Amino acid sequence: GYTVAIVGRPNVGKSTLFNRLIEQRKAIVDDESGVTRDRQYGMAEWAGKTFNVVDTGGFVHNSDDIFEKEIRKQVKIAIDEADAIIFMVDVAVGITDLDDAMANLLRVSKKPVFLAVNKVDNSQRALEATEFYSLGFDEIYTLSSISGTGTGELLDAVVANIPDELETESKETKHIPKLAIIGQPNVGKSSLLNALLGQERTIVSNVAGTTRDTIHTHYNLFNKECILIDTAGIRKKNTEKDDLEFYSVIRAINAMDEADVCLLLIDAQNGMNAQDVALFSLATRKGKGIVVVVNKWDLMEKNTNTARDYEKKLKEKMAPFTDVPILFISALEKTRLLKVLDTGIEVFENKQQKISTSKLNDVMLKAVEAYHAPVVRGRAVKIKYVTQLPTVVPSFAFFTNFPDDIKMPYKNYLENQLRKHFNFRGVPIRIFFRKK
Ligand code: GDP
Repeated sequence: GYTVAIVGRPNVGKSTLFNRLIEQRKAIVDDESGVTRDRQYGMAEWAGKTFNVVDTGGFVHNSDDIFEKEIRKQVKIAIDEADAIIFMVDVAVGITDLDDAMANLLRVSKKPVFLAVNKVDNSQRALEATEFYSLGFDEIYTLSSISGTGTGELLDAVVANIPDELETESKETKHIPKLAIIGQPNVGKSSLLNALLGQERTIVSNVAGTTRDTIHTHYNLFNKECILIDTAGIRKKNTEKDDLEFYSVIRAINAMDEADVCLLLIDAQNGMNAQDVALFSLATRKGKGIVVVVNKWDLMEKNTNTARDYEKKLKEKMAPFTDVPILFISALEKTRLLKVLDTGIEVFENKQQKISTSKLNDVMLKAVEAYHAPVVRGRAVKIKYVTQLPTVVPSFAFFTNFPDDIKMPYKNYLENQLRKHFNFRGVPIRIFFRKK
């Protein structure tokens, strides 16, 4: 994956641009605390290229009297972790000391930096924006992140740097399942990895060019073969404790991008909190297989229904994608650890499967017969034919006379039927309607 970080002092408009780029609901609400917090990362698509966007401002205290130290931290993390940086300033305020300080740090970095001058809403402002050439970058991109003007030019420049295909894997080599161990700090990622590997960890490859901070380990024991991708135990020198969240989020995204299946660890005692849900839905949107692994199960007081009730609560958070394996383990006591690999590999196989068109039509046209799509404006919607597309994320095209007339509830019905008749446990699937 390619990661673009947005940096800038508070109130220049970073989150407005961010939300425009990811075009998604901005806030994630933390159920436990009732606090609404800003989303800090998401996916964007422009000119056929997909990339991760991180709003580093979302991690630091967003006040006007922000310390320069915080800013330095933000910039350092962006430089360390991102492939490109959008540096945002505010034309209405002009160049401030903080802008200057950030520009100095960014200019010496080796990453591409795009200077975005925000709040350029009229021609007067456009004139004033030229002042920002003095910050020493070759180009300035003027924009109004509220109205969206100028963002296209900025994005054109950003995506021009993204290599066409990061994935170069040859089709002939046997594809070994790649399982990423992801989760928040202290959920037990290192403990799980160490328990699985003994003490030994053989570094097989750091996939060139795609990432900096993931470790790939070839696991081949007990008849199970996979590549474990992890970010556990990687600490930057001088990383302060409160920087941990920054790094861990960005690393989780990198690990995710490289994997077929994500093993999402959560801490049994904390349950699935907003950050876990955010990782879960990001993995879903990236089309990755998912296994939810509830660790530290040894610490839970258990009676007969504990696991069942726990699972029910988790599924409420995961909805609508609930056809996902959930495992209860203890990395400490080494219980059910091999089950984690088994399940990960099984999800990988579910994800790889190609269903023959005849079998698919056999089953799905019956499902369509049993429950027809609702009639829209007096026109009967007919589905004639279904086929699986040759994509990495299992995708199905339903050919129909009126593609636009088929709405969400019916799409969900078809997805449920697919899941009922074929095994896509742990795998996001996509459904398209095409004109016959
Ligand atoms: P990471 O940051 O996700 O890599 O988490 P660690 O593996 O470093 O674990 C964080 C803490 O949780 C450590 O003190 C571990 O000993 C503890 N821990 C990890 N797994 C378990 C578990 O299954 N049960 C219990 N009781 N503690 C665990």
